[in-house]
Amino acid sequence: MSFRATILTLYPEMFPGHLGTSLAGKAMERGQWSLDTVQIRDFATDRHRTVDDTPAGGGAGMVLKPDVLGRAIDHASENDNRPRLLMSPRGKPLTQKRVRELADGDGVIIVCGRFEGVDQRVIEGRGLEEVSIGDYILSGGEPAALILLDAIVRILPGVMGNDLSGLHESFEGGLLEHPHYTRPQIWESREIPAILTSGNHAAIAKWQREQAEQLTRERRPDLLDKRSSK
Ligand code: SAH
Repeated sequence: MSFRATILTLYPEMFPGHLGTSLAGKAMERGQWSLDTVQIRDFATDRHRTVDDTPAGGGAGMVLKPDVLGRAIDHASENDNRPRLLMSPRGKPLTQKRVRELADGDGVIIVCGRFEGVDQRVIEGRGLEEVSIGDYILSGGEPAALILLDAIVRILPGVMGNDLSGLHESFEGGLLEHPHYTRPQIWESREIPAILTSGNHAAIAKWQREQAEQLTRERRPDLLDKRSSK
């Protein structure tokens, strides 16, 4: 069964966005994954098709209504065991590990928040897993959902031309990746490190490993701490 993503959003026209092009788009055409959208507004019942209301307790902005969103989620997840995610800056920061777990499953149901966010009761009542893509605030969950899906789709079996390249990326081994070079041999008087053109594969692997460790020490010591505490 191929990977299936269902997106709940007020802006279905934002999908598939960039995922309709390049490798992800071709994989979609080949049927290796699929995406459908659910317009949350279709589940409003009043004449004005209202989806939001003012926050209880006062304050700025509006909140997505639990009744409308709850119906949209129930519609999307009928007879369905896919994980239900809510894109949210309060969520657990997304990691390559979680991306891999999700890519190993049947698919995802993703709720895109808007306004100030969604009513807490629908998060609890429908068991939504909150996922953050970083410590900054977007205007809506849609770009976050596209990023999450991008990360998932590129590692689905057969999506990337060279399946091996997915295994050597930054984070996969808990390290940032070593630097890359390609021809010309000399560019603006900068040379490709000699070891990379030596043909000595063991020495090259050792150099790449050392570079990865050094880079990670300098830029992301937190990743090394996580590795040693595993
Ligand atoms: N008032 C909220 C922010 C709402 S932003 C707060 O301070 O926590 C509106 C919507 O954008 C959110 O409901 C969420 O779906 C999405 N969003 C914003 N930033 C995000 C992030 N860093 N990661 C994932 N989703 C995000």
